[in-house]
Formats: sequence, C-alpha cells, structure tokens
Amino acid sequence: MAWDWSDSTGSVLVADSPLPETNDRAPIENPALYQAGKQRFLQAGSRILRAWSAEGIKLCKDIILPTGFVCGVVGPSAKILAMQEITADDLLEECKQRIGRLIEAEPDAILIQSISDVEEAVLCLKAAREACKLKVGVSMTFGSGVEHAETVMGQGCEEVTRRLAGAGADLVGCDCGMAVDESVLIVRLMRQATRLPIAVFPDAGQRELRDDKIVYVETPQDFASKAPSLVAAGANIIGGCCGVSPDHMACLAGVVGECDAA
Ligand SMILES: [Zn+2]
Repeated sequence: MAWDWSDSTGSVLVADSPLPETNDRAPIENPALYQAGKQRFLQAGSRILRAWSAEGIKLCKDIILPTGFVCGVVGPSAKILAMQEITADDLLEECKQRIGRLIEAEPDAILIQSISDVEEAVLCLKAAREACKLKVGVSMTFGSGVEHAETVMGQGCEEVTRRLAGAGADLVGCDCGMAVDESVLIVRLMRQATRLPIAVFPDAGQRELRDDKIVYVETPQDFASKAPSLVAAGANIIGGCCGVSPDHMACLAGVVGECDAA
C-alpha cells in the first residue's frame, strides 16, 4: 500500500531506530537476526520501519502490521557535492539508481535521510520524483551553528525547510547528532517554515566515552519524558537514532499515546 503522509498529521506515529543487528549488510548476512531486531520495534509500538536496501524492505514488509509502513531509505552519497567530488548530474544519476533498486521491493514511501547539504537533498528528491510515484520525505542532519540548528554547510533550519518544501518534499525532518532537547528547537523552527508533516529521529542524549565504548546517556524513561515537547513543537513522526533501543521506543510509544489521548 502506498503511504499517503496525510495519515500522519492526525496523531503521532512512532518509527524505529538503528540497531547493530539491523545494519546495511544484515538483511543479506543474517536475515533472521535482522527481522528479529525489527520485530522488537513493532512490539515496542513502532508503526514505521525503515530499510536501507531492497532485501531489508522485503524482510520488513513480511512482518509490518497492516496499519504500518515500510520506508525505503536513501542515505547521503559518499561523495561531497560542495567539494566537487561529484557533479550534480552524476549525483542525480547515482540517486536514481539507488532509488530504482529500493522501489523494486515496493516500499510504502521513500525517506531521504541524514543529509547535511540541502543541495544534495534537493537533487535526491528530484531523483526520487523521476524514479517513482511514492511519497518522498527528506530528513536532514543539523547540529552545527550557535543553536545547533544549522547543517555543517551552514544552512539554517528554516531556510532548508523552505527549500525542501519548495522542491516538493511530502515530509520534512531531522535526524542524528542531536538529543531530544536540541531537536525540539529544530522541530519548532521547521514548523514555523512549513505545514508539511515533520519527522524527528533524535539520539539517546549526548555521546560519552565510557570504558573505551561510545555510549548514549539517556535512559528510555528520560528519552520518552521529553516526547511531549516534541509533539507540542509540531512533530508528527518520532523515531530514534544513535543509542535508541526498542526499550526507548516502547517508553516513547506509551507517552505519545497519552499525548494523542489528551
Ligand atoms: Zn544518530
């Protein structure tokens, strides 16, 4: 079923987050473990699963709830447009090929994600439009600038949102490099710039090094307790990024359900 994003403006939808066992290679290397990882998010109340490959999309579609959606995700190119490592024409072509492979597995929508240059995002959006008729969302990574509300390219959140909306995105969003606290400001700025649905995928707090391991400091309860401010700021879809476990999403789903009922 193709996803009409308008479904996400009535109540807040919960998405998934990345796990070690659901990485890019996992759908091929260990499909059962991959599916079990995604299943944990469904049990935690997630209605949206994201997959980075055709194999991943198929495995997610096998288990998704009838009321849920599987997004085929396109991440950033390994080559940087602004550094002239790739031309705009070549980037457009590369995106079209990547999206072409995803849509063979029939995702419900396309999500362009973790992009830190709006020029790349707009090209990728154009490629998706040319490759399919699905709804296309674009989620950017901010975290730079005074209030952490700029991309590394120095593009402000409101300006980026207006560019994406003008280029025909069906949904805008932000992911990675920010805790829930920081993402509240970004969602608020995005909401001032557009009426489109907004998705947000924060990390589980700040990153710390403990015993030579990178950890994210927020407990599921801390993470979820801040969700109402994200909803108040205008978020329609909330998922997770670095350090966010199914337990975080289960707590979040509970809190968000209370927000809907209120
Ligand atoms: Zn992250």
